[in-house]
Parts: sequence; C-alpha cells; structure tokens
Amino acid sequence: MLKKGNKLYSILTGSCPKCHEESMYVANNPYKSGHLFKMHERCSTCNTKYKIEPSFFYGAMYVSYGVGIAFAVAAFVITKLFLETDLITAFLAIVGTMVLFMPVIIRLSRNIWINFFFKYDPKAAKTTL
Ligand SMILES: [Zn+2]
Repeated sequence: MLKKGNKLYSILTGSCPKCHEESMYVANNPYKSGHLFKMHERCSTCNTKYKIEPSFFYGAMYVSYGVGIAFAVAAFVITKLFLETDLITAFLAIVGTMVLFMPVIIRLSRNIWINFFFKYDPKAAKTTL
C-alpha cells in the first residue's frame, strides 16, 4: 500500500519529497539526542535543496498544530473511551503523549510541510548526478 511515488511514503519515512530515494535527515531516529533538526542540505540523488528559502521550516509550526491536535485527540479517545479513565487521567495522558511524541510530531510536520511544495518526480529518482 505504501510505496514510493505516494506522498504518504515521503511523509511517513521522511524521505526526499521529490525522488523518495533517501532520508532528508542525518539520523533516521528522531529520538537520537541532538539530531532532531539535523537535515541534509540537498538530496544526493536528485539534488533537491530541502530548505528552499531561509527559515523555510518555520512554516512547519502551523502543520505541527494540526498534527499535535491529532495526537491529543487520539490519546484522549484511547484513555477516556477505551480505558474508561477519569478526566484528569485522560488529561495527563494527553500531556504525556505530547511530550513523548514531540520529536515524532516535529518530524511529521516538517515532512508534511515540505510535501506541500514538492511533487514526486519519477524521473528525478532515476537520474544520478
Ligand atoms: Zn531526492
């Protein structure tokens, strides 16, 4: 279901939005300390410059608001509706989820943001520099 050429592939794997061939990030694991924001300057396969303008990824903050809400709602539904806890526990679960998944939320937001500006290009995947 999830294969190269699909925007979801790039969003979920953090791969280059244009060729989907390699990761945009220096470290694939967002929890590796100090590596959360470290990205390659360009894609070594298709030469796409990820940061298309200065402070480009500030825009990802708007996306992270929506992604954060999605995680919060998921945490609430799981604790309150499925585990049937009280409201305070559900609230604490939301706070815990936000803290725990913060690196994932940041990465996802960046991936979604950059995918607004780039389209998958099968030709870019084949040409090597
Ligand atoms: Zn690329």
